[in-house]
Amino acid sequence: VLDIGTPERIVKTTCAYCGVGCSFDAHMRGEQVVRMVPSKDGKANHGHSCVKGRFAWGYATHRDRILKPMIREKITDPWQEVSWDEALDFAATRLRQTQADFGKDSIGVITSSRCTNEETYLVQKLARAVFGNNNTDTCARVCHSPTGYGLGKTFGTSAGTHDFDSIEETDLMLIIGANPTDGHPVVGSRMRARLRKGAGLIVVDPRRTDILDTPHMGMGLHLPLRPGTNVAVVTALAHVIVTEKLYDEEFIRERCDWNEFKEYMEFAALPKHSPEEVEALCKVPAHLVREAARAYAKAPRASIFYGLGVTEHSQGSTTVMAIANLAMMTGNIGKNGTGVNPLRGQNNVQGSCDMGSFPHEYPGYRHVSDPATRALYERVWGVPLSDEPGLRIPNMFDFALQGKFKGLYCQGEDIVQSDPDTKHVTSALSAMDIVIVQDLFLNETANYAHVLLPGSSFLEKDGTFTNAERRINRVRRTMTPKNGYEDWEITQLLANRMGGNWSYPHPEAIMDEIAMTTPSFAGVSYALLDEVGSVQWPCNEAAPLGTPLMHVDGFVRGKGKFIHTEYVATDERTGARFPLLLTTGRILSQYNVGAQTRRTENTVFHPEDILEIHPSDAENRGLRNGDWVRVASRSGDTTLRVEITERVAPGVVYTTFHHPTTQANVVTTDNSDWATNCPEFKVTAVQVSPSNGP
Ligand code: SF4
Repeated sequence: VLDIGTPERIVKTTCAYCGVGCSFDAHMRGEQVVRMVPSKDGKANHGHSCVKGRFAWGYATHRDRILKPMIREKITDPWQEVSWDEALDFAATRLRQTQADFGKDSIGVITSSRCTNEETYLVQKLARAVFGNNNTDTCARVCHSPTGYGLGKTFGTSAGTHDFDSIEETDLMLIIGANPTDGHPVVGSRMRARLRKGAGLIVVDPRRTDILDTPHMGMGLHLPLRPGTNVAVVTALAHVIVTEKLYDEEFIRERCDWNEFKEYMEFAALPKHSPEEVEALCKVPAHLVREAARAYAKAPRASIFYGLGVTEHSQGSTTVMAIANLAMMTGNIGKNGTGVNPLRGQNNVQGSCDMGSFPHEYPGYRHVSDPATRALYERVWGVPLSDEPGLRIPNMFDFALQGKFKGLYCQGEDIVQSDPDTKHVTSALSAMDIVIVQDLFLNETANYAHVLLPGSSFLEKDGTFTNAERRINRVRRTMTPKNGYEDWEITQLLANRMGGNWSYPHPEAIMDEIAMTTPSFAGVSYALLDEVGSVQWPCNEAAPLGTPLMHVDGFVRGKGKFIHTEYVATDERTGARFPLLLTTGRILSQYNVGAQTRRTENTVFHPEDILEIHPSDAENRGLRNGDWVRVASRSGDTTLRVEITERVAPGVVYTTFHHPTTQANVVTTDNSDWATNCPEFKVTAVQVSPSNGP
């Protein structure tokens, strides 16, 4: 062990990986981080961390970092290193020319769930106030946009209802489409600690996840559903609760509309929703569904956690609403140990949504057509604003292929690797006149860019991240940006070249503007965060120190709303050509497309993506562990090694997407959630056949 002795200084900051938002003390020697120590007073992590936050920060100073801006006329030209002035002038001139040639709606932005609140706020402001349109979207489009829609409709606000501390008071956890011990490890550990103390566990997931094997835990049920049938299973749980009268009538009468619930009850009680009726479709034994429904409804305090296995489906929004129905009908909302908690994948998914990154909403989830909100921003920003919702990411791609969308500013997001149907994405980017990528590395999207603006890492910037429990944590600069600028400064420089006239001296001034214009952030300031560590929004006059639990005395929308959740089969069907269903997920040591973790020692834990396949499917194809296979879908194909395992059911295969060589999204389809266009990453019909390797 290297003894690095006493650090010269300690800077308190926040992990830039997952939505748990662990606090860390960065131990510094000069401009060098020598150790990251999880903060004991971190309210999300209480001194704990995982292998990513603690050890995988070396990417920030990796030799692959792009530190000089680069431009090129055409994407077939070689990159040319230029000064910041030259790069920004080139970008601004091309964007303006594109608007002159194709109209003001021909350009847009994509914000990042990895960047700070202050940075995403400025990027969406760039689109609305400088470009003059609402063409702003975020990478949350491809992960948790159905959460925004589903919880907004049922509860009235788009956020997790409880804090992580609430886990310690729960009697039962229902985990749907989430793998917390890999995806959200500190929360996963807290769940395991609670399971060891006797809480029950129900996991609804096509794959057997590690949390089911927690040592010394009590009751644990696994409902191994067929990918794509979430709505049928969750509605079947509701069927059991209503037909066996396990609902909480007092709560429903007080907090919801009883007549509306009676109508919902008639719907859920229909025989077609019974566990026995949906067993053949979902592949979950009916007795397990009945047992799970009774356990959830009878637990004194039951909580629901869900992840991308819920949202990344053609019925993602419907499943979120079905989950909300379960919590409301059993009174499991508004008190410790209960709740509906979306586990956010990236560090600032919650924040980027809060900050108005979606094309139809200003910060704080206020629609662009709302005259009062628009008037407020017109006054503060000093420009007229459009009342028309802008383009979502998939619309940007479709319009690009039709020649109507010609310019994109993409900050901190590798859309080529992380969006579905890669060929569609690259064709759309190739059809644009100006693509500006702002990132730490020359990522896959940069292959289609005309301008590369070097980004700054979380260690080089000030700002805030908002975690999955709505907790606003400070990010503090530990070192001078190696590229010369923090990301928010780059956006400001670009905006000013296009007539923005912005003069923010520091991210604190941006947060002050956010607080001034966003009611749920009205009480947030850097002074408060420095004083108390972190706060959960809403933080305002009514809740000066924030709000750990939401919907305590009433739902944000007034009465909680029950929504009929009819199962509709995905368009993605198996058949003779594509007989297996591929679903995707993450592993503990790696993070998303791996741009960061692959540039750290963590790579030794997971050097390549592997395809998990059931023994019977492997035998049918003559496969042995470690063999190469070709995975082909209607969209494309890739090559992987196989691991033969009973973690997945017959007919289902599973892989991660951390390595660009694999490009798992080459095979995923362009099906998407009916309400939000969130891609259906979790269900792809594929064929798996032996291969000689890539
Ligand atoms: Fe915490 Fe998530 Fe970072 Fe791990 S990756 S240290 S769980 S915030």
